[in-house]
Amino acid sequence: MRTILLRPGAEELNYEIRGIVKKARQIEALGQTITWENIGDPIQKNNKIPTWMKEIVSELVSQDHTYGYADSKGVLETRKFLANLNNQKKGVQITADDVLFFNGLGDAIAKLYQFLIPTARIIGPSPAYSTHSSAEAAHANTAPITYKLDPDNQWLPDMEDLYNKVKYNPSIVGILIINPDNPTGMVYPKEVLEDFVRIAREFKLLLIADEIYQNITYNGILAVALSEVVGDLPAISMKGISKEFPWPGSRCGWMEFYNRGASKEFSKYVQTLENAKMIEVCSTILPQLSIPKIMSHPDYAEYRQAENFKIGQRSKLMEELLSGIPGIKFNPTQGAFYNTIVFEEIYLSPNQFLPIENKEIKALMEYWLKEENMPMDKRFVYYLLASTGICVVPVSSFCSDLRGFRVTLLE
Ligand code: PLP
Repeated sequence: MRTILLRPGAEELNYEIRGIVKKARQIEALGQTITWENIGDPIQKNNKIPTWMKEIVSELVSQDHTYGYADSKGVLETRKFLANLNNQKKGVQITADDVLFFNGLGDAIAKLYQFLIPTARIIGPSPAYSTHSSAEAAHANTAPITYKLDPDNQWLPDMEDLYNKVKYNPSIVGILIINPDNPTGMVYPKEVLEDFVRIAREFKLLLIADEIYQNITYNGILAVALSEVVGDLPAISMKGISKEFPWPGSRCGWMEFYNRGASKEFSKYVQTLENAKMIEVCSTILPQLSIPKIMSHPDYAEYRQAENFKIGQRSKLMEELLSGIPGIKFNPTQGAFYNTIVFEEIYLSPNQFLPIENKEIKALMEYWLKEENMPMDKRFVYYLLASTGICVVPVSSFCSDLRGFRVTLLE
């Protein structure tokens, strides 16, 4: 066979949220019960879908038009509905033409970077949801460029770090914000979002906000949307229903384009994304058809509030459990359903963990630990998995130099 050459950035494609699942399955097969705290999938955590939601989907399944192709951009009525939902907020106004559907936000993220030349860089947070950092690195053929989220300052972005990187690196063309954030669970105050806007304005950058957790906030916090602060700057908001309905198996997410006429470059970029969707024909139609029906159902707001309340309670419980533990950095969460715990220092010895009685599991873990250049937090996560069956994700796999782990707050 002729040699298949991969692009240099290809090895940056890494998704430890699922990588750790392979390891967990191996020890599950050896008799260990697994506590899945690695993935933000409410369905996997046994959350129940309300009957009225299932009835909406069943009703759609019974109709012939559900089986056709949609418009390449997505179902028009749904795009109108989403534009209208955005326009109820004070801020930038959009039309159905400014909404573009994808097969899940993961697909949208891949396309976001795919058509930029490798030297056009999007600076993103660190730590970051790894689909973004991996996709950005793969497109650029090199490691991602990041600004720091500071665990010593409630995981807020280090604006000086961002400012300096943008100022001295002219290849940066855009800034990515994840708000509410995965993996930190932080929700950015309005002033912080306004700082992002100021920097984008000064350096003429595209602003991109992944807002998939926009309506998952709790304990008195509400997330300010990018559309409320962006003014007349070109920007993209990325949204989806995987977490909110929750319907992760729908593979349905969308982009909203703000001020697409603001610059020729931006409008060409948006057109390219639309063309890419045309080549694919369209995205999954059933979830798109269901969005207006579910979101305008009389029980929807109450359902979401109740779910958010439960996550908020678990966030408080986590706070109680972790407060006062020496050697860790921890911030109570405000949104999404994750918490990231950082070790101040970490010296690992097997004696710190429960003894692993099962000889096969012990041998398997010793084999895992032979991986070269393994960050300390990954070793910790492997020990934890092998000795207790608790499955979490190392922070180092979220494009970060910090050491610690992310845990879900789902029941
Ligand atoms: N963006 C963020 C911040 C996420 O946490 C996730 C999933 O965990 C996604 C995007 C991907 O969502 P989807 O299921 O729509 O692909």
